[in-house]
Amino acid sequence: MATLEIRDLHVTVEVENGTKEILKGVDLTVKQGETHAIMGPNGSGKSTLAYSIAGHPKYTITQGTVTLDGEDVLEMEVDERARAGMFLAMQYPVEVPGVSVSNFLRTSATAIRGEAPKLRTWVKEVKEAMAGLQMDPSFAERNVNEGFSGGEKKRHEILQMELLKPKIAILDETDSGLDVDALRVVSEGVNRVRATGEVGTLLITHYTRILRYIKPDFVHVFANGKIAESGGAELADKLESEGYEAYVKGGASA
Ligand code: ADP
Ligand code: MG
Ligand code: MG
Repeated sequence: MATLEIRDLHVTVEVENGTKEILKGVDLTVKQGETHAIMGPNGSGKSTLAYSIAGHPKYTITQGTVTLDGEDVLEMEVDERARAGMFLAMQYPVEVPGVSVSNFLRTSATAIRGEAPKLRTWVKEVKEAMAGLQMDPSFAERNVNEGFSGGEKKRHEILQMELLKPKIAILDETDSGLDVDALRVVSEGVNRVRATGEVGTLLITHYTRILRYIKPDFVHVFANGKIAESGGAELADKLESEGYEAYVKGGASA
């Protein structure tokens, strides 16, 4: 079983008047088969955590480690991270002009599996996954993220997750901007992957509503650049009724 381990992670960004520490010692372990929700107020550093694991050049790791089965993730090139079994949903929302969804998915699957998927089974897999996400077949011929609506971007993200079968998936605000129907469809997609027991998911969100559809095994409250409290699904209910106020006192959430 693959294990992602984040230990004492400190991350800074360059801002106008110097260097700002955003992550201040994050500790988290995500195992294949587990679903973890990271919840926290805006500006608490949730996306910074996702970007740092993804290797975004804007974020400087000043202390700590991120490993996948003991391998140093921070030393890997972005494509190596994908081949190692990591899926980082925020990596892809860029437009890829002239590359269709269909080609993009096949190229990604080939890179990750080390060989091109057999065409007949692949076409069937893609069709089924798209149908499950209530996506029109014509979507496969559109250019990646070009003119995609918010909802289409999220469905495309989950389509990738279903087809690429990662060991560890990090989904940053997959619920944002979705209406209730789209939220349900997208959540069902995540749950289908989850039901295989083969994926460890880190679901980053500000709102509790997605957790009505995707029941996390663990909930972590993120505040002021680190995990302030961890618990089970019941912690999300507490956040729903009490909000984040108790966690941000004394720590700016700018
Ligand atoms: P969240 O996802 O929890 O809303 P973020 O990780 O997006 O939080 O942001 C945390 C803090 O770090 C915010 O104060 C934000 O302005 C700052 N920050 C994040 N990324 C950058 C960046 N690339 N440059 C400057 N400041 C940043
Ligand atoms: Mg934010
Ligand atoms: Mg964010």
